[in-house]
Amino acid sequence: MPIILDHATHTYMPGSPFQSVALNDVSFELHDGEFLGVIGHTGSGKSTFAQHLNGLLQPNSGTVLVNGVDISAKTPESRKARQSVGLVFQYPEYQLFEETVRKDIAFGPKNMGLGEKEIDARVLAAAEAVGLAPETLDRSPFELSGGQKRRVAIAGVLAMEPACIVLDEPAAGLDPQGRRDMERLLRKLHEDPNRTLVMISHSMDDVARLCDRLLVMERGKVAIVGTPVEVFRESETLSRIGLDLPEGEKLARKLRKAGFDIPEGTFDPTELAKCVAAQVKGGARHA
Ligand code: ADP
Ligand code: MG
Repeated sequence: MPIILDHATHTYMPGSPFQSVALNDVSFELHDGEFLGVIGHTGSGKSTFAQHLNGLLQPNSGTVLVNGVDISAKTPESRKARQSVGLVFQYPEYQLFEETVRKDIAFGPKNMGLGEKEIDARVLAAAEAVGLAPETLDRSPFELSGGQKRRVAIAGVLAMEPACIVLDEPAAGLDPQGRRDMERLLRKLHEDPNRTLVMISHSMDDVARLCDRLLVMERGKVAIVGTPVEVFRESETLSRIGLDLPEGEKLARKLRKAGFDIPEGTFDPTELAKCVAAQVKGGARHA
């Protein structure tokens, strides 16, 4: 389900002293089934971009096409296209409001007009997908830990079964264990080849580890688009923007300088260690 932004510009509070151009003539195509990472500094327009993907925000000029349908239209077809993109806000746990976890997850499917049986089945499946135990379903979301609450919020979006899921800083504010759990969940969601995923992040390490392709934003504009390896090659642009390379990539570069043969694209610490170990052993054998 490709999504195309065609010369999309979004200005907040136009004409006021607070006017801010958050998206500046952005053209971009999100591919079917990919996992895209959107990275950039605070204020670069990432969240604004995210909210254009499901029509929550509309461009002042330009268009957004979901599966070929202009999502600004007021047609049933356009509504359906918007519904095929699920958005998980930053800190989504603040938007939980029902008495029970079950009701919260069921909120979206209910709004879609689904039958009770279908809703129950979806709630169970979504809870399981995010790793919430069934007994959690009848508890109040407010009794849960921060990480669990966030999973409830994500389950609520999953239960609508959107073809594309957009997550705005899903790991923000989680402790290290929570971050690892989130990463596992994202990897699992990406296993479904029919699902398109977009993750907004300000951590190059996170997006490089998880995503197929990266969109680097700078002051409302697309600065770089490419695979992580392609993006790392743009050292000049990255340093101008002030975005750091992932720790693994920095280490790979140091190892190359020290004479190790590290293939391009190897930046996972475990892979790097294997690479070095093989060469150290090989060297010792030849000595
Ligand atoms: P990011 O998610 O990368 O931090 P945002 O999309 O939130 O960036 O913001 C992009 C720009 O738009 C920033 O300059 C921000 O101050 C401005 N902005 C964001 N939301 C609003 C809003 N609701 N009203 C006015 N300006 C906003
Ligand atoms: Mg943001």
